Amino acid sequence: MGKIRLDKYLADMGLGTRSEVKKLLKSKQVTINGETATKPELKVDPETDEILSSGERVVYEDFEYYMLNKPQGVVSATEDSRDKTVLDCIPSKKRKDLFPVGRLDRDTEGLLLITNDGALAHRLLSPKKHVDKTYFVRLRDELSEEDCKKLCEGVDIGEKNLTMPAEITEYEPEGRQCFITIREGKFHQVKRMFAAVGNEVLYLKRLSMGSLILDETLQPGQYRKLSEEEIERLK
Ligand code: URA
Repeated sequence: MGKIRLDKYLADMGLGTRSEVKKLLKSKQVTINGETATKPELKVDPETDEILSSGERVVYEDFEYYMLNKPQGVVSATEDSRDKTVLDCIPSKKRKDLFPVGRLDRDTEGLLLITNDGALAHRLLSPKKHVDKTYFVRLRDELSEEDCKKLCEGVDIGEKNLTMPAEITEYEPEGRQCFITIREGKFHQVKRMFAAVGNEVLYLKRLSMGSLILDETLQPGQYRKLSEEEIERLK
């Protein structure tokens, strides 16, 4: 990437709005390669310049990647006038252009990737890519073997086509919970699939999306940055 304005650099890295950043610069708290910098329009090179604010290094990150264990009651949106959003769950975020990759329902828990990497999001969400998503499901009624078979083969959820083949695992015959892996991402898909066989999803949690697996040490509402390896595997 090329050079960018100092005020944009600092604002992008979460040091405040452009006008707050201007004040910070005026107060002589920012240095570039050891020299005090006060001009917002100064151009800096994120790759080579060392920028400090109040003595602390401000490292530039083009992309941020977070894994959130989404809690219930939070909406998968970037802003909402009524409800807390998944972005509100990431207080340490720096970039203002973050968004959730896909949506989980308000009452669904589990893995949600939050990033500003649009190309990666596009690849993961593209209907043509059929990225696997695995969910843990708790049901109202026992799941018969027959319904399990139907769900695996494809059911009518009111779309043009039946759902694509799914996989159901760790399912005890006549049990009320299972894991299901689907390769599409239609609106309310898992709930609609179980509704199509006359059942009802009482609790839903996403455990994985493609190569990304929910870190089980994260409690609902907790998050962490993706490791370099996790990012590479997703690409
Ligand atoms: N399927 C659903 O029905 N809800 C979700 O949140 C995710 C998948």
